[in-house]
Amino acid sequence: MSSQQLDRTVAVPDEVLLSVLLDHTSDLLLVVAPPGEVVYASPSLLAQLADGDALVGRTALHLVHPTQRELAREVHYRCLQTGQPETVDLQLLLRTPSVELAYEPGRWFQVTMHPRPGLGLVVTGHDISARIAHAKELEHLAFHDRLTGLANRVRLERELDRPVRGRRAIMVLDLDGFARINERVGETGGDAVLRSTAWRLRRMIPAGGLCAYLGGDEFALLLTGIRSPAQAEVLAEQVVGALAEPVRVGDDVLTVTASAGLAIDVGDALHGDELLRRADSAMHLAKQQGRGRTVVFDSAAAARAAARAEVARRLAAAADEDELVLHYQPLLALASGRVHGAEALLRWDSSTGMVPPDEFIPVAEEAGLVHELGRWALRRACADLVALPGLTVSVNVSARQLHHDSFARSVEQALSSSGIAPERLVIELTESAVVEDPAAAQAVLGRLRRLGVGIALDDFGTGYSSLSYLLHLPVDTLKVDRSFVADIVTDRRTQLLVHGITTLAHDLGMSVTVEGVETEEQLEAIRQTGCDAVQGYLIGRPVPLAALSS
Ligand code: C2E
Ligand code: CA
Ligand code: CA
Repeated sequence: MSSQQLDRTVAVPDEVLLSVLLDHTSDLLLVVAPPGEVVYASPSLLAQLADGDALVGRTALHLVHPTQRELAREVHYRCLQTGQPETVDLQLLLRTPSVELAYEPGRWFQVTMHPRPGLGLVVTGHDISARIAHAKELEHLAFHDRLTGLANRVRLERELDRPVRGRRAIMVLDLDGFARINERVGETGGDAVLRSTAWRLRRMIPAGGLCAYLGGDEFALLLTGIRSPAQAEVLAEQVVGALAEPVRVGDDVLTVTASAGLAIDVGDALHGDELLRRADSAMHLAKQQGRGRTVVFDSAAAARAAARAEVARRLAAAADEDELVLHYQPLLALASGRVHGAEALLRWDSSTGMVPPDEFIPVAEEAGLVHELGRWALRRACADLVALPGLTVSVNVSARQLHHDSFARSVEQALSSSGIAPERLVIELTESAVVEDPAAAQAVLGRLRRLGVGIALDDFGTGYSSLSYLLHLPVDTLKVDRSFVADIVTDRRTQLLVHGITTLAHDLGMSVTVEGVETEEQLEAIRQTGCDAVQGYLIGRPVPLAALSS
């Protein structure tokens, strides 16, 4: 600065300088008079208040986060008593000036209280949120390193973001049953298992790779310089094998297996995130498939899973959008030669055409939608019975549905809301639904039986066919699977078999229906077995309600 300029700047009054300073500092300044009332607040502070200028005249404490008011009060009194300034980190209830309306309780400030006799306290505050956040990040990094000595997820992700040279693969590993291990050997023992896993992984990984601990009981290996997918697969198998070797933890010797997912970038320069996501989804598949194994990510399988998820998504909306329909297939009583009932078969009239149940019921089961579909089918079938005087209607129920708590109740509701006689409703179950949990099945079937609802065992002869448990189940009708019909004309033994089943069923008080009758010859052969009813294209295909009742 030249002396000429100096000459010109002498006479600026202190108040002007101060007000310019206060207007332009981002630091906070306030003056607090005893016992704690704000008498002055700087413009920078007013700008960060959630409620404008309502600060002067109020207690300064309401700026402080409730969890720290006690601390603030303590420092305040100490300053007044000792006459010495003090500095403390506090979270203040201020919003970020640059962000409109954002109100973040919890911005950290370094607050200094300067006692001034006769005035009270002059308080200054400096925003240290960024510093605190940084310190937290460092703490996080340090924590994981301390447990396993491995890189953590942040480090792995940084590594994955780097430009790729050559092929690489990621293996994600998850220890099987780690919660149980923790229960058995305690948390310290669990930590020892994690450390021993880390140690084994580090020994297995080839130079240039990275071992990371992802938290919980998950680890990841980044393998670089992969020459072929087979090489990565062999290495993955070796890693899983090495982890399954027994570990000594204190006096315990444990065998801890891991499930692994492997994703290989075979030169399509996949983004690191995508590679990690693929390895993760393959690992979940490995868990499902029985643990202690490696699953290699397979794009085709993933595409199938995505397609199933898409069907599930559309199916979830189908019931709401009136896309479900029941078709009815007639059941013919042989003695009278009359149609005595009909089987309700679910159809999905989707935007892409009519979808058969074999395609969407498994998806519905997997996605947990089958209960809703089942309730819908029961309600619809009972309501439709009004248009089918004198007939019974059979509704199919899958194993999942049967074993759901609300199943018996949804049957009761369907009956009561339609007002039809329970005897006109038949529930069709497959053997597998019963075999899965016979005791539970028996309880549900007993409840249906007491209601008066009929019970049919579907697809009989394809599954377990253990007649012994039939003795204990309240079944009214056996439905002999259509695979018997296919060769009943040409193979006499099949005819004898159906005859035998029929005789036994009759002895047990059950009736027999044979499914899938397509020709007159088949009908004739079936008639000779002594069974009670038939169903099949020869008698009638499944049709909409209107077509059946006309
Ligand atoms: P299912 O209970 O064994 O039903 C009989 C299946 O055989 C029906 O196929 C029917 O159209 C077909 N069928 C009938 N007669 C003949 C014939 O003469 N020849 C041949 N080749 N086939 C015949 P659909 O309607 O595709 O149903 C397939 C399966 O889907 C059913 O097998 C049943 O297990 C299941 N399903 C149908 N509706 C429902 C439902 O509302 N809920 C549940 N959980 N499952 C259902
Ligand atoms: Ca059926
Ligand atoms: Ca069947």
